[in-house]
Parts: sequence; structure tokens; C-alpha cells
Amino acid sequence: MITQHNLKERIRSTYFELISDIAHFSYDELLSVVTNHLTAILNTTHSVIYIYNKWNKKYEIKTSSKETGMFMKSLVDFNDINQQLLESDISDGKSILREKSELLNFNSVIIPLFPKFGSSGFMFLSYPKDVEHLSSNSVELVKRETEQLLKLVNYYKLSEKSVSKSKFLFDMSTRLYSMNIKGDILKDIVQCLYKLYPTFTYYLLLSQDYEAESSLPIKTIEYSDAATKRVSTQAFLTGEVQLEDRVKDKNTSIYAPLRGKQGVYGVLQIITPHAVDFTEDEIDFITQFANTAGAAIENVTLYQHSKHLVSDLKLINEATHKLNSNLKLTEIISIVRMQIIEACRATQVGFIYINDKSDNGFDILSGSTSYFATKQGQIFAEDILSQMQVNTDPMFSGNSKKNLPYCSIMAIPMIHSGNVHGAVLIMHEEKYFFSFESYKLMQSLVQHSTLALTNSILKDKLEESVITDYLTKLYSRNHLDETLKAHMQLDEKGTLILFDIDDFKKINDTYGHYIGDEVIVQVAKIIRTQLGQEDIPARWGGEELAIYLPNASIDDGVALAGQIRTQVESFTEPKITLSCGVSSWIDKELDSVSDVFIRADKALYEAKEIGKNCVVKEKELKKHSNL
Ligand code: GH3
Ligand code: MG
Ligand code: MG
Repeated sequence: MITQHNLKERIRSTYFELISDIAHFSYDELLSVVTNHLTAILNTTHSVIYIYNKWNKKYEIKTSSKETGMFMKSLVDFNDINQQLLESDISDGKSILREKSELLNFNSVIIPLFPKFGSSGFMFLSYPKDVEHLSSNSVELVKRETEQLLKLVNYYKLSEKSVSKSKFLFDMSTRLYSMNIKGDILKDIVQCLYKLYPTFTYYLLLSQDYEAESSLPIKTIEYSDAATKRVSTQAFLTGEVQLEDRVKDKNTSIYAPLRGKQGVYGVLQIITPHAVDFTEDEIDFITQFANTAGAAIENVTLYQHSKHLVSDLKLINEATHKLNSNLKLTEIISIVRMQIIEACRATQVGFIYINDKSDNGFDILSGSTSYFATKQGQIFAEDILSQMQVNTDPMFSGNSKKNLPYCSIMAIPMIHSGNVHGAVLIMHEEKYFFSFESYKLMQSLVQHSTLALTNSILKDKLEESVITDYLTKLYSRNHLDETLKAHMQLDEKGTLILFDIDDFKKINDTYGHYIGDEVIVQVAKIIRTQLGQEDIPARWGGEELAIYLPNASIDDGVALAGQIRTQVESFTEPKITLSCGVSSWIDKELDSVSDVFIRADKALYEAKEIGKNCVVKEKELKKHSNL
């Protein structure tokens, strides 16, 4: 029989040796060696240490002896039936000495370890039924010395673990930083997690923008069930780790935000198979893990972003470069439309421009795609424009409820000097077709092209106003001059008619200037009804109008003047009459623009002379009238 003193000496020296060798054993190996030594020292048949595993809520056997393992398994009573009983029995910290029972053909002692820290574990020692039981002093001694040893081992292994965790995080972050594809990073993160906690379930909750690879456990933050959404959204918004005990599912979820320096990129959800309490250390580690992952995601996001930015800048730069060269409106629209279609694969692009003079209050600029020529397209354009008058923000929808054949819609206002001038509408049939990135790019593109577009529209308007007479909307005298000049260079012949309203002073005197103006407009309208496509009607001066007929002979001119004269006489109110002078050219070498005008003016003078309300052909040509 071993004495108390000897027992103490032997246990201490054995444990001392173990401690000096601690670095060579894993935690489990060490416990198993302890049990082997105890068997030898205490002469037991089996010595076992059970340590509580909070992740699966079970006491786990720590022994390397197969025989012992088998033996313990055979104790149905012990392992399965009485697990609960056992927990309650050892919770008061008292060792339990069991005599041979009906069920068990041996004596045993159960020694709780660290009862102060909850159910940390216990030792189980068994003896053949004929061997004398350990004295309670010996039990206490074994307990004290083993606890002492385990304390040291725990401390050592804990610091070793924290070093290895730091190394783990360091290795992980070095690895993740070398990757520049987001999918690879997410895959690595998930693999790391399975290595760390193989029994847990993981989800990466990411924003809708990410096109997930199907093999990864990715959920969108948006579509989680209501309860999850609440906690996960909280983690996402606050950037703080959130814990959630799900009573119904009897498990615990931890939500760790994937946080970078500039924002939160998603949430890591870890679900334990049982409800557990995470220690501060564990939460700390998970937080660090998620931060490492978040920083790596941020890194790759910024990298992709900068790549995008460079290509976006190139596109904008290219567009502005092209638009800077003095282009016609149709050319500008065609460039912008091409850029839009190329950049975001839109199927319809519409350019809507506000125009108070047009019937709807806006124009659909030519160069818009086919949908905008349809009635539905125009109603849609009108709808968007009226919304933009209220709210000038651009619009972005991936699932439009407007009941159109297009689910993805971007509507970007054309704003210049703080005013909305119109909008660019970009559409696609598929839902959620456009990315947020392309929406931002389109805003930038439209913003950059609006100046060129409005300038070109203004220029067109200005040109139009320069060549158009404000009262009659016929061409201006200047434009008539220019056109005649151009035609005389290109054509073989042409005819000019000048009209002067007879006794117009009287009209003014009788009815006033306003009616006088009205009468001039009436004449202009009559003239317009009589013209061919190529003919150019103009206001020559006050109540004098003119028409240039390209490629027309003088007789064509005389005939047309005659028609107009009769129409005016019949249809003006108050009634007025016209005198007309007609001239033409057939040889650009001999004739000049001013000669043609002078001859027509002379003919007109003659018409006045011979009594007004008539048409007179120019004199020179009378000579050649047989030509
Ligand atoms: P005649 O038959 O010789 O052409 O007689 P007239 O009264 O028409 O005389 P003339 O052509 O020399 O004078 C034109 C007058 O028409 C002078 C001016 O008061 C008037 N007039 C010129 N331009 C306008 C205009 O834009 N609006 C109005 N209401 N009157 C004009
Ligand atoms: Mg006159
Ligand atoms: Mg007159």
C-alpha cells in the first residue's frame, strides 16, 4: 500500500517531468499521458479524464488507451444514461466514491475538476472490486495535484493558442492581400472558418451587388428572414459584433461585420450547432478574423474600383474629347448613344429635350432608339420628365413597376446651369440588369455631354432664328442672299420673284399697324401653300416678300407669281393686292446675285408703274424670252 507521502512525491515528480516536456504534447495528448501515469501510480484498472466541450455540450474522454476507451464505452450506464446525473452529481464539487453496484462490477471514484469554473471536467478511476478503495485524502491529493498541473497546462496552451491565432490571422491576411478577385477571397475566408470551427455553419451576408459564386454560402443581407435581418442588419449598420440566441432552433448565431477602414462590406454569420456562450476571447478572435477578412475585401473592392474608375475615366475622356470638336446635334447624340450602349449594354436609349414650343412640351431628339418613336415610349418620356420637374434627382430602378417591357430603367436629367433641360433614359428588359457602378458612370457621362448637347441645340436655335423672319417665319433676307449665292455656284439656272403689297400705307392707316402685320402674315401663308420643296420664300423687307426658285425658268416664276397674286387678291382679309417682279439667271459667269435682285426690283417697279396688282418679267430677259 502506497503511503500518502509517497503518493504525493510520485505524482509531483511525474507531473514535473510532464511540465518540462509540455511543448511536445498537444493538450489532448498531455491529458492522455496523465491518465496513463495515474493508472500506473494508483494501480487502477482505468484512469480517465473527461473534459467538458461547450460547443457540443458533452464531456469528452481524453485517453489514448484503446482498451480504456472501449471500457468506458461499455459503461452504458455511465456514458449515456447517467450523463445528466453525473453533471448534477459533480456540480457540488464533491468526489463520489462508488462501491461495486449491481450494474458495475468494480469500484470507482469520480473526481470533479475545477468545479468553481462550472463543469470543466472530471476524473474517473476504477478498481477491481477486491482492491481497497483510495482514501479520501488520496483522492483529494490526486485532485489537487492534477488541477495544479491542468492549470499550468491550460495557461501554457492558451498562450500558445493565442500566438497561433495571431499567426493564423497574419498568414490569412498575407494570403488574402495577394488575391485580387473577390470570389477567391470569400472562398478562402470560408475555408479558414471550416478549419477553425469545423462543426459550425457559416454564411457570408453580402449586399445585393455581389454576383455570388454558387459554391459559396452567400446570402444577401436583404433577403434574410425577418429575425435574422434585424440582427444582421444591425451588425452591418453599427459595425459591431452581434450575438443572437435562437431559442427555437436551440443554437447561437454570431454576426461579425466584415469591416474595412472605409466601410462595412458584409456580415459573417456563424451558427453553432448548440446554444453556447462565446467567451470574450472567442468573440475577440472572431472580430479580428472578420476585420482581417473585411480589410481584404475592402482592398480588392478598392482595387476593382480603381480599375473601373480608370476605364470609366477613359470612356468619359473619350466622349468629352469627341464632343468638344464642334459637332452637330445628331452627331453628338449618336456618339453618346453609342457610348451608353457599349458601356452598359442598354437596349433602349432616349434623349428627351424640353421644348416649350413643341406640342408635348418636349422633343424626342432624333438618334433616340426605336421605343421612343412609339406612343408608349412617348408617354413614358413625358411621365419621367414631369417627375423630374418635381425632383431633379436621377432615377435608378432594377424592377420598375411602370408596366413597361423594360424592368431596368435609369433616367438621368440633363442639367445645365442648374436647370433641367431634359433627360437621358436608359433601359433594358431584364430585371436588375444595370449595376450601381454603371448607373454612376452614366450620370457622369450625361453630365459631361449635357453641355455639348445644349450648346448644339442652342446653336441650332440661334441659326434658325438668324435665318428666320420672326413675323412671317419665312427666311430672312440674309438667308435668301446666301442661298442664292450658293445656288448660283452649283446650279444651271434659277428664278427670283419679288412681291410688294400695294398701297399698304392705307392698310396701316385704316386698320392700324397690328392688322397690317396680320396681313403680311396672311400673304406669307398663302405663299407657303404654293411652294415646292426646294423653293425658298423670304421676307425681303417690310411689306416686301420674295421667293427664289432653284432650277426654275423665268416662265415658271411668272406662272407661280401669277397664282400667288390671284390667291392673295381672293383670300386676304382685309383684301389687298400684290405687285410682282420676276427675274432669272442662266449664266453664272455673266450674272451676279445683286444683278438678279436689281432686275427683279426693276420689274416690280414697272408693275407698280403700270397700275399694280400684276406680274412683270424683267426687261433683259424679255429680249431672250424665246430662250
Ligand atoms: P405701293 O403700292 O407703292 O407699294 O404703296 P405702299 O403704301 O405700299 O408704299 P410703300 O411700299 O412705299 O410703303 C410701305 C409701307 O408699309 C411703309 C410702312 O409704313 C409700311 N410697312 C413697312 N413694313 C411694315 C410692317 O412690318 N408692318 C406694318 N404694319 N407696316 C409696314
Ligand atoms: Mg414697299
Ligand atoms: Mg407697297
